[in-house]
Amino acid sequence: MPGKRILILGGTGEARALANRLIDAGHGVVTSLAGVTQAPRLPEGEVRRGGFGGSEGLAAYMRGGGFQILIDATHPFAAQISRHAAAAAQACELPLYRLERPAWMAEEGDRWTGVADIAAAVAALPANARVFLTVGRKEAGAFLARADLAGIMRMIEAPKEELPPRWNLILGRPPFTIASEKELMTANRIGHLVGKNAGGEETRAKLIAARETKIPVVMIARPWKPEAILVESVDAAFRLLSP
Ligand code: NAP
Repeated sequence: MPGKRILILGGTGEARALANRLIDAGHGVVTSLAGVTQAPRLPEGEVRRGGFGGSEGLAAYMRGGGFQILIDATHPFAAQISRHAAAAAQACELPLYRLERPAWMAEEGDRWTGVADIAAAVAALPANARVFLTVGRKEAGAFLARADLAGIMRMIEAPKEELPPRWNLILGRPPFTIASEKELMTANRIGHLVGKNAGGEETRAKLIAARETKIPVVMIARPWKPEAILVESVDAAFRLLSP
């Protein structure tokens, strides 16, 4: 079905890869970004930035742009935009596709504590823990609020909070290697790794490094998202949408 008008809600590597493939196949693709990252990696094709103003704004944008397909390819932890996408798809009487990589599963040798959310992750850390924190900059504050925690936090852009000297900030984008993750954790005498269950290969190295160095992991579970036609890889999404 060449030439479809497709809106991709992006902010992930998979969204970018799918946009590029659909454009190469002759579709008219617009990728939407939240506009929160200063220098995002951009896909080919048209890109729009910033919120829509809720689900009604998104539905109006879809009608105005004559979109025939909506793909939610946002990050597994971006829960609000996915709720809005489901409501907007329903209002426009269109199916909702969701491209979402599978969650990571603990493997033999892993020492994971599963928690439901950021607050539970903060609470799960023992007193005076030295932490390798790999959550987003918006969530850093919850960990900074505990004066006994210290360590390193890695994110794409700095948090708005000023970091006390007990925390070191590392700005970086994946992918990372197992060797460099091990080195980072050893050099910083890390006792606990904290991360979201984002899934995918780009940030898996830290989990393997933690397993091999016997470092416990506090793994934050994914938030609930509404029902959608779920595809787990760019290939599967492309086959479904462009048979
Ligand atoms: P969120 O809490 O689900 O969404 C907050 C608001 O941001 C939404 O209501 C929407 O505003 C706007 N928004 C979010 N994604 C958008 C998109 N792709 N296009 C247009 N507007 C969007 O989202 P978040 O967790 O802050 O994540 C923001 C973006 O960063 C997402 O695109 C996500 O894919 C990406 N990201 C998130 C994480 C994470 O851990 N949360 C990690 C990596 C990348 P309106 O209501 O005004 O439309």
